[in-house]
Amino acid sequence: MSNRPIYLDNHATTPMDERVLEAMLPYFTEHFGNPSSISHAYGWEAEAAVKKARAILADAIHATPEEIIFTSGATEANNLAVKGVAEAYFSKGRHIITVQTEHSAVLDPCRYLQTLGFEVTFLPVQPDGLIDLAQLEKAIRPDTILVSVMAANNEIGVLQPLAEIGEICHQNQVLFHTDAAQAIAKIPLDVQSMNINLMSLTAHKVYGPKGIGLLYVQRRHPKVKLAPQIQGGGHERGLRSGTLYTPQIVGFAKAVELGLEVRESESKLLLQLRERLWNALSRLGDIHLNGHRTQRLSGNLNISVQGVDGSALLLGLQPIAAVSSGSACSSATVAPSHVLLALGRSESLAYASIRFGIGRYNTAAEIDKVAQQAIATIESLRQAHPATSQSTQIK
Ligand SMILES: *Cc1c(COP(=O)(O)O)cnc(C)c1O
Repeated sequence: MSNRPIYLDNHATTPMDERVLEAMLPYFTEHFGNPSSISHAYGWEAEAAVKKARAILADAIHATPEEIIFTSGATEANNLAVKGVAEAYFSKGRHIITVQTEHSAVLDPCRYLQTLGFEVTFLPVQPDGLIDLAQLEKAIRPDTILVSVMAANNEIGVLQPLAEIGEICHQNQVLFHTDAAQAIAKIPLDVQSMNINLMSLTAHKVYGPKGIGLLYVQRRHPKVKLAPQIQGGGHERGLRSGTLYTPQIVGFAKAVELGLEVRESESKLLLQLRERLWNALSRLGDIHLNGHRTQRLSGNLNISVQGVDGSALLLGLQPIAAVSSGSACSSATVAPSHVLLALGRSESLAYASIRFGIGRYNTAAEIDKVAQQAIATIESLRQAHPATSQSTQIK
């Protein structure tokens, strides 16, 4: 364990908080009942736990418990939101607006809907990763049924202006969905004041268990209609069938509860660590920050390193730091990050990028060690291949 690299990939997933595990354990064995069993105490115990968790999660985003639909994670919640709205509103219109930098769990359902005859506008972003609100407003048409814009980007941490987007959607009577998988317990989220009609969340990005998430679906003013994507026993008001996973639900609520308690103080600490890392690395020169300088998750640093080969950079860092690079490896192919390309980065700068995701359990000493190794790696790569440096300087 001790010689494993330092974990700095907290946007991919987070370690589970011990207190979350503790809260979950009784629901695997002792309180194992099916929350839908209404005829005995086993069911009642589980139902009570789910009810409590649902209330905590609803509170966290200023929703009501009836507006929470449990899913297997944010991927499923995004699918339910995008396809569920499309299917329920297609007679009103068949146009959807989203953004080029969204997670594939939003982009792929949108592309799928295109094959069914829906029209999708994939808004570009500005070089800092933020959308242009005027451009959003212009993209809305009479047949637009949904706008889906993420709260915090999983690669570059950029925070989109949710309240402003919500206001525009509200004025134009278009539903607003946000994928807030990276944002919960990190930035304030309020579905009421931000005019958010649908919101996807997941537990494992906030020190909770994997395999559990939720979709918030507004019930009043307006009541959002949704076509279920998984049918069966009629759980979750018929919107998502399947026996509720009590331990995961309890863990999800515990993780969010703990996260909200420390949100502001933790955010300050993460910001200090990030600035420490950025100050150390940026001194090298020819290091490009990807995404807005300040309007980003406090634990996120995403950089492109000029004059080095992306895979060599990652290889050099691997023994010391567990980080992600700007290339998405899907089964067979390695492609440059669609997010970095959308910012206008060249392919070589997109490949030569590192995402540092700093989290709850990282220390200043770890950051210093990683910075040191990164600097040594970058310097030696630049010395070994000065020619590469020339060719990428075009951008
Ligand atoms: C991790 C993540 C997802 C996918 O969530 P799962 O719960 O793993 O399915 C979706 N959107 C964003 C922004 C994410 O960071």
